[in-house]
Formats: sequence, structure tokens, C-alpha cells
Amino acid sequence: MQIGIPRVLSFFYYYPFYKTFLESLGCSVRLSPPTSAKTLDRLSICPTDEPCISVKLAFPHTAALVEAGVERLFIPTLTSADRYSYYCPKHIGLPAMLRNGLELPPEMILSPVLDWREQPRRSCESFVAVGRRCGASAEAARNAFFKAWRFQNYFQQKMAAEKWLYPEALERLVGVKMFRRNRPYNPQADFCGALRVGVVGHSYILYDYVAHNLVERLREHATVLVPEMVPRRALSRALSAVPYGRELWSFEQVIAGSALYWLEDSLIDALILVSPFECGPEAVVEVFLEREAERRRIPFLILTVDEQSGEAGLVTRMEAFLDTVSGSAAQRGGAAAAKNKTLSSTPARFMPPSLPVKRLLGFPNLGRLGAALATLFNADRERAIAPLPVTKRTVELGAELAPEFMCYPLAVTIGQMREYLEAGANTLVMVGGKGRCRLGWYAELQETLLKRAGYDFEMITIHSPLPLNKNFRPFAALVGRLLEDRPASKIISNAWLAYRKAVYLEAAEKLLYKLRAREKERGGADRAYRVFEAELAEATSLRAMQKSFQRFQEYCRTAPRVEGPPPLRVRLIGEIYAVLENFVNHDLARALGSLNEIRIEVETEITVLNWLRYNIFHTP
Ligand code: SF4
Repeated sequence: MQIGIPRVLSFFYYYPFYKTFLESLGCSVRLSPPTSAKTLDRLSICPTDEPCISVKLAFPHTAALVEAGVERLFIPTLTSADRYSYYCPKHIGLPAMLRNGLELPPEMILSPVLDWREQPRRSCESFVAVGRRCGASAEAARNAFFKAWRFQNYFQQKMAAEKWLYPEALERLVGVKMFRRNRPYNPQADFCGALRVGVVGHSYILYDYVAHNLVERLREHATVLVPEMVPRRALSRALSAVPYGRELWSFEQVIAGSALYWLEDSLIDALILVSPFECGPEAVVEVFLEREAERRRIPFLILTVDEQSGEAGLVTRMEAFLDTVSGSAAQRGGAAAAKNKTLSSTPARFMPPSLPVKRLLGFPNLGRLGAALATLFNADRERAIAPLPVTKRTVELGAELAPEFMCYPLAVTIGQMREYLEAGANTLVMVGGKGRCRLGWYAELQETLLKRAGYDFEMITIHSPLPLNKNFRPFAALVGRLLEDRPASKIISNAWLAYRKAVYLEAAEKLLYKLRAREKERGGADRAYRVFEAELAEATSLRAMQKSFQRFQEYCRTAPRVEGPPPLRVRLIGEIYAVLENFVNHDLARALGSLNEIRIEVETEITVLNWLRYNIFHTP
């Protein structure tokens, strides 16, 4: 059976594994042709303009294989590379995107799942299932899987030990010829081996057409280090020095870990990040690396590429950067001489803030959750600023500081934080919880961006206390820092009150949606809900909450309703922040529920409590 593998994305990491697996099953492998100007001309077959260039490229590559008549396509679903991290969601969704976007029959794509985090056993089994579809026995498929995995590990170790680029290793160990130019790009280039430049980025960008052979060009000027040259152990060591560093997205771990390792050990004179447009995960890493390079006074260049990036512009920026770097590296005496000097060079604005004795907390609000958060942090009404609503100004303030490719919720929450800081907060509270979404890294990013803008405050990030054996101590220490001199009993009772408020708010919202769709006097349900909300915000005991909920319940039960057919039920789905924050979604639930022409009952499973259950308490 001939199986096609598109020369994009995970090809630039796992091709040795894929090829060994398929050939061990007796299949022949066909690669799509390397990306060229012709491939870029066909990008329009990607049904949307939204994704990054790497995902867009997957469409013409896959289409080329289908046109060449391959019997099956091999496009694994990359979910997680280890116990800690996830791949970017686009790797998780790639097979489905291609199947739907190119209207391929479901059986055309062989898509085993690599998920070492949640379902390690399933990973092997899904490869075995693919092996069976290719005509191999279960045992032969299992053997092929382990053989391929062993080869992938050998390949990576060899690449790190020999200091090969991925294309070099692919050529030597797997026999795939990658583009190699046999004459210099710049015959006048002045090679300086003592100048060490670290280049990070996704391999599928660094070595694909869109980067215009940047790494090869750089090698004409300096000694170039790339992530695949960093041994796995060094990567892990560098990442474990960063809070939750192991929980970055899998490929971003490699990017951040390599850069940190070089910076920490003073192995480079300059750092270049090659980043695709529209890449959210890399936008997080970018802010983080910029801060780390700045702290060590290492020149840092970000080169952003996409299908429009011209070769000349890229090369000019690279060469101009190298000119500056050579001068400053010579002054410093090169990377080795910079060792031990760097940490003391932290600019003043990154110094730990000098806090007044008393904390004044600010916490980004989300939808109707403000009352519950206020109870948690502000039971004595002196320690936290009352929840501030999201407004147009909030969004504008956030957009001023948010990086271009970060999502809208990041911009809005930065805007909220600025408003709290302007209102006098000296401590900001944000949730963590690393998963598939970037949210878990927001706190770190927001802290960096706000401090860079000159704000002086402390950021406290609340991560899950689970599993208790690992996380309870740091969680308890953090709660202690947050609530300072308050007795534990008070903290526990506040937390319980806050939780119950959130439960009542969600229950009341469901009743509100039901009644809105049926009430005779339009607007009555909303008025009753506002009264309930105000009472709940003031309530300081479980009894008071219960009473006010019962009053609202009673109103909903007895309010006059219209006769006629049952309302249309519409479920709101989407990104949690957009669904829950009414300013962001233009109060969609109310707009739908208040229509006169048609009665609509809105439903949603996306709630803050469900998010907490899944992300913080892991009880899906
Ligand atoms: S990590 Fe960035 S470049 Fe890679 S697939 Fe995701 S969005 Fe695209």
C-alpha cells in the first residue's frame, strides 16, 4: 500500500518515526514535494485564512498527495508528547481540518493518536489499529510501533550529539534529501566562529520554504545553535527552573527550553526567534524569551514569517542584526566572557515591587462571577477592589499592551488589570492551570507586559491544588500570602460562601433563560434577576443567599407565561470567555431570549463552575 505523508508540521519532527513504522508494516511511503512558490500559489484551497502558515501549507501538500494517487494519507493526531504538555490545538485538530477542508473520505486518512499524557496506552493501540488497516497482524504492528519509537529516540540523540540540523540528520540517517545549496548565499560573508547565535522556532518553519533558508544563511556568518542540538536532559533542566515550564505546549517547550539553556549557560551572543504570523503559542514564548534575553543583555531578534514574507527583507534584517551583535559581542568579549555578568544586569523596572504593608487585590472578573470573587477576596471589604465591569475602555487599555497575535480574552484581562492597578490595587490575582489553552500562561505574560509598561505590583497565580501530594503545599502557601493575617477558619468559610454564590448564580441564570423565553410581560425576569443579583452580592451568610434564591425561584414559578408552542432551544457554545463575558459577546443570551418574533430559550454548558471542575479540580 502506498501511503502519503505531507511534508509539513510534524514531518519536521517525527518523520523518522513515521517512515520506520510504515515501512515495517510493508507499506511504501510517498512524501509530498517540498514547499515551493507553486505550493504558495495553492494556499487558497485552505478553506479559511485564519490559521498560521504551517497549517495552511498542509492543505496544498495533502492535495498534492491525493492528486498523485496515494492510497492513504498518514496524518497522526498529536495530542501530547509527555506527561506534562499538550501540542498546539492545531496539531490535535489537523486530521479533522484536512478531512473536512478537502472533503476527503474518512477512511482516506490514517490518524493514530500520540497522547502520552492522558492515554499513553491508547497511543500504541491506535498505531496498532492503523497497522491492522494496512494488513499487518496486531503483533507485527506493535513491534513496528516500538521499533519506530526506538529509532526516533536514536535519531534525536544522534542529532544532539553530532550537532546536526534536522535536515542534515534526515539526509544522513533516513536518506531524505533536503534542499542543500552548494554555493554560498553571500560570497562576501565574513564568518566568525566565535560569534554564537541561537536560532529558535518550529522546525516546520525554520526548515521550510517560508524561512528562506535562514539557518543556512546564518551559518555563513556565525556558529549557529538550533533546538535539536540541545540534549533532552538539558532541556528538561532548563524548563524545570521555570514555574510550570514543563507544561508549555510540546514544541514550545523545545523552543523555550533550548533558549533558556543557552542563556542560562551563556552559550550564545545573540538569540533569534523565527515565528509564524498568527501563532498564539509562540506569541506567549516570545514575550517570555524577550524578557529572559533582556535580563541577560543578550540581543534578541524576532523574525516573523508568512506566505507574504519577502526573502530580501528577511535577509536584510538578519544581516543588520548580525552587524549590531558582532559589535556588542566584541565589546563584551563573546559569550564566555559574558558568563556570570548577566544576572546582575536586570533593569530597574523588573525589580521586585516594594509593597505597602497591606495588600489591595484586583482580580479579573468574568461574566457574572464578580459577586462570588468579591466574597472570596473581600469579605471584610478592605482588601480587594470591588469587581469592575468590562467596558470599551477596558478593551482599549488591553489592546495597547497585548501582543498582536494573542487572543481577545488576553487583551480584555490586561485591560481589566490596568483598571484595577489604576484604582490602587498592588496585587493582581489570576488563575493558572496549564492545559491545551494558553490561559495557563497568561498570568506570566500579563505580569511581564504590565511591568514592562511601568506598573509596580505583585502577581499571584492560583494553580490547581491537585494532585494534593504535589501541589497542596504551594497552594496553601499562596492562599496564605493572599489572605495574610486572616485566620484559616475565616478563609475556609469565605471560600465556601463564594462557591455557594457561584452555584446560586448559575442556577438562577438557568431559571432566567427559561422564564425569558416564556414570560408574558417582557423584561420582568431580567428585573427580578437584577434584584436577586444585588441581594446575593450583599449576602454574608448561606441563609441570606438561600432566601434570596428562593424568592427569585418563586418569582420564576409564578410569573405569567404566554400560551403557545414551546420556545426554540438554542445552545451557546464557543470559547469560554466569549460565552460568559457579556460585554464581549454583546449580551447574546439576552438578545436571543428577548426576541419578539420568536421565543428562544438559551442553554449553555459552558460555565465557570464547569471550567473550575475540569481545569482546577480535574473532575470532568
Ligand atoms: S504552534 Fe503555531 S505555528 Fe504551530 S501549528 Fe500551532 S499555531 Fe501553527
